[in-house]
Amino acid sequence: MEFYVDSYDVAVIGAGHAGIEASLAAARLGCKTVVFTINMDAVGNLPCNPSIGGTAKGHLVREIDALGGEMGRAADDTFIQSRMLNRGKGPAVHSLRAQIDRRMYSTRVKHTLELQENLDLKQAEITEIRRIDGEYRWEAVTKMGAVYKCKSVIIATGTYLAGRIYVGDVSYEGGPDGMFAATSLGKCLRELGLPCRRFKTGTPARIHRESIDFSNLEVQQGDDYITPFSYDTMENPNFPLENKVVCHVTWTNDRTKQIILDNIHRSPLYSGKIDGIGPRYCPSIEDKIVRFSEKERHQLFIEPCGLNTEEMYLQGASSSLPEDVQIALYKTIPGLENVQIMRTAYAIEYDCVDPLALRPTLEFKDYPGLYGAGQFNGSSGYEEAAAQGIVAGINAALQINGKPPMILERSSSYIGTLVDDLVTKGVADPYRMMTSRSEYRLILRQDNADERLMPIGHEIGLISDEKYNKFLHRCELKKQELKRVREAVISPTEEVNALLVSRETTPISTGIRLIELIKRPQLGYEALAPIDKTRPELPRYIFEQVEVEIKYDGYIKRQQAMIDECHRLEKKKLPPDIDYSEITGLRLEAIEKLNKIKPESVGQASRISGVSPADISVLLIWLAKSASAEKTQ
Ligand SMILES: Cc1cc2nc3c(=O)[nH]c(=O)nc-3n(C[C@H](O)[C@H](O)[C@H](O)COP(=O)(O)OP(=O)(O)OC[C@H]3O[C@@H](n4cnc5c(N)ncnc54)[C@H](O)[C@@H]3O)c2cc1C
Repeated sequence: MEFYVDSYDVAVIGAGHAGIEASLAAARLGCKTVVFTINMDAVGNLPCNPSIGGTAKGHLVREIDALGGEMGRAADDTFIQSRMLNRGKGPAVHSLRAQIDRRMYSTRVKHTLELQENLDLKQAEITEIRRIDGEYRWEAVTKMGAVYKCKSVIIATGTYLAGRIYVGDVSYEGGPDGMFAATSLGKCLRELGLPCRRFKTGTPARIHRESIDFSNLEVQQGDDYITPFSYDTMENPNFPLENKVVCHVTWTNDRTKQIILDNIHRSPLYSGKIDGIGPRYCPSIEDKIVRFSEKERHQLFIEPCGLNTEEMYLQGASSSLPEDVQIALYKTIPGLENVQIMRTAYAIEYDCVDPLALRPTLEFKDYPGLYGAGQFNGSSGYEEAAAQGIVAGINAALQINGKPPMILERSSSYIGTLVDDLVTKGVADPYRMMTSRSEYRLILRQDNADERLMPIGHEIGLISDEKYNKFLHRCELKKQELKRVREAVISPTEEVNALLVSRETTPISTGIRLIELIKRPQLGYEALAPIDKTRPELPRYIFEQVEVEIKYDGYIKRQQAMIDECHRLEKKKLPPDIDYSEITGLRLEAIEKLNKIKPESVGQASRISGVSPADISVLLIWLAKSASAEKTQ
């Protein structure tokens, strides 16, 4: 029997990484919001790697923070080890990755939801959503029959929707970490006509610390100088930034390989039991052995899951092989000879939606007021989920508040790139963010996320004036310092030339601008400190940015020119109701793709695979003709 409970502006189905950001954004923008979870103790659960960030994922976390999201702050509050990846490479790929205490993270974000004004957190499984007429466009119904009227609904169901667990030939309905699956809602969404599909992902075993022999394993320490994710943390000099744990490195070997190959027929992946599509860039150990058979060994990382647990995560060894095979293969790995498995590795297959059905606001084109976010949209990863969550939450709130939508361009951010890839190109397998996915990666560095997105976060109301003023102050500090190094002249003193010679670069005979010295490959901002007498005391994150902008000035200018051209095309809006078959000169494939995706701008049209530059020229001419025809009417 159904019973009406309450009405909300926004209902979010799922309190995972997407649902958390979506519900906080909507509530913080003044919407009466409710967020549902199947299990209150799994809010913000990390069912896979106990870490936040990584290559390109660290950029997403910074960008979420710059927009006013929560993940960055929560990660800074609960990290146990921090490393800046790719420091040896260019700044475009420097990416923060932090080991996280899984339990503490979940507790931290759950409490944040509980304390948030305008937000109700409820343990209830939504089994059905249905469209209704009027201001409240949707009803969400729980397993208990409770009915909630909502103006908008955001689906952020992760890997739970029609979830199915696989370990060898054992399979059963289930969500991650022993949770229930959300089966009824999966059925309801298919009946509603949403384009659902099956994806899969997998995770390695959790093993007991005591059963590991660390004596011969390589130790991976955290960084000496720790960079936080959140700008709030950065602005708080008293924030305790310290590494509390180490990780260890080990490798598979021939015996591991042999055991896997001898039992590959028992893998549900290779026996065809699993037909969901898995993440290309997060392959299982059996996939690695089969796909990269030429490789002698595969690197594995042993990562602590927290401070108050003996559970260790075996990064790189996700699997769905039978448990007996898992035990045998793990025992071949150096350090794991006496391994005690606490949680078996498994694969999970689940329902998600074809993101081509979504607009760049993450609202469904054919279901007004219905949004999708996270793994449900065909992505994979906590960070990718959180990024979509904040976009969906912001746009649901802006629409309800009668304000224009927030559509982030590819040139503004990895979040913009992620959403555009999903809704314009679609996904063939769970989408993982990588720096190579952006054509503007030198501009989209993780250090300047605030410059790119904080003005937007402030304009829509998620970034407070106080936080915004601190941002303006950082920009001013950087601007002043860039001005100073451009104008400062270094004289050819003995001390100066001694330093230049010690750095194997040419000594100077006349005065030279400081900036010219910083540009030299052998030198950098820090290296010149001893001879730069007028240097002000600046936080590291400011002078690191100054150095990047000086050393990469040329590249940055070139990318900026590309961005300006991209802006020009993005501004050319396309009416949503065009029948592209009526535009003479477009190729058949382009007509089919354009009519299916209904791009919102020429820029978006230009990124649809199968739409050629020639088709874009035809579109631009057609647009110009329609515009002048309208003028003469
Ligand atoms: C086994 C496994 C392996 C993974 N491996 C990787 C990997 O290798 N690399 C990687 O990047 N990511 C991996 N992930 C993915 C990562 O966990 C997810 O990307 C991330 O958690 C997605 O966040 P989300 O918010 O979309 O969903 P989730 O974090 O899954 O949260 C979903 C939320 O929805 C709730 N929910 C679902 N249905 C309902 C309903 N009907 N009613 C009410 N509440 C509902 C759940 O209770 C939960 O709170 C893995 C996940 C799993 C489970």
